[in-house]
Amino acid sequence: MKISRRKLLGASALAGAAWPAIAAASGGGPSAGTRFDVSTKRLLLRHTWTISRGSSDFKDNVFLRIERDGVVGWGEAAPNVRYGQSAEQIVADLEKVRSLVEAGEWLKYVDLREQWERALPGRSCIHAALDIAILDWVSGRLKAPLYRLLGLNAGKAPVTTFSIGIDTPEVIKQKVEEAKEFPVLKIKVGRDNDAEILAAVREATDKPLRVDANEGWHDKEQALEKVRWLQGLGVELIEQPLPASMIEETAWLRERVGVPIIADEAVRTAADIPRLAGAYDGINIKLMKSGGIQEAIRMIHVARTLGMTIMLGCMIESSVAISAAAHLSPMVDYADLDGNLLISNDPFIGVGVERGKLILNDRPGLGIRERSSVLTSPAPVQ
Ligand SMILES: [Mg+2]
Repeated sequence: MKISRRKLLGASALAGAAWPAIAAASGGGPSAGTRFDVSTKRLLLRHTWTISRGSSDFKDNVFLRIERDGVVGWGEAAPNVRYGQSAEQIVADLEKVRSLVEAGEWLKYVDLREQWERALPGRSCIHAALDIAILDWVSGRLKAPLYRLLGLNAGKAPVTTFSIGIDTPEVIKQKVEEAKEFPVLKIKVGRDNDAEILAAVREATDKPLRVDANEGWHDKEQALEKVRWLQGLGVELIEQPLPASMIEETAWLRERVGVPIIADEAVRTAADIPRLAGAYDGINIKLMKSGGIQEAIRMIHVARTLGMTIMLGCMIESSVAISAAAHLSPMVDYADLDGNLLISNDPFIGVGVERGKLILNDRPGLGIRERSSVLTSPAPVQ
């Protein structure tokens, strides 16, 4: 089809009008005003946090603040001992990519991501901090909320579960009461008191429950018994019943139960998903495992292609990383984005929650604001 020059000019003018922010925001390259600041902040848990692997009262997360052209981007890394990560290592590794980021063209964030992945292969937590910060900056620079840049409908953001860590029956009941705003709860099990925990929860509420064993059951017969029992209690899905390496045993289990089985520790990036397709019904994506938003989107598409359901989860994180994940939440089936609600000193305000539903605001970028400065807490960890 031939198109006249006049029509062509008209069409490009229209395209330009539709994308004024992008047209105006050409460049994004290095400038004298570029900043790259890293700080560690101790996040205090409201309750001692116990899962099948262990307990903690705090988490030391690393915050990255980047700035250029008067626009700020925030990122966060939540190190996890399960994956051999520490705050000290993350701070040291971020220094190694400082010059790469400072010299980069931030609007070309796809190229930039390839560069930092090449410089620090396999460091998912650091990739996450960089990717969140860059996409906060890019969407801030383009003056749009991140979800809008991604073409997503914030009204479709799902309800998030509220997680109840392993505890005594008395504290479990107290936690269930504290979570009364949330229509669905996620219950952590996988130690020797599963029956006690579920009894305490069911005494306090008849809400739908999702259960996370965090690889806590170690043989398939035991897992089958547990899952059948949980099915009888109205549990709507089970996360990571068996260790991540037991894929065949999980497939065996899945054939014998009616409740969906979701992979968490068994999946980190899109490359892990195809081999899990027969063993699990769905996957739990976390930005700290995937290495950020770009890879999380790829995971969503791969899982959908394979007919799997998608949960978006988190570590213990502030409203920086939780808000970043929440911007993707209109694309997923289940959200478990409560890490910021489990801490008492969140330094940021971001995504809101109303009766469990995630509420994304219409501010540019991640839509976060600093409640208290994290950069005043210098490394080493205070
Ligand atoms: Mg989990």
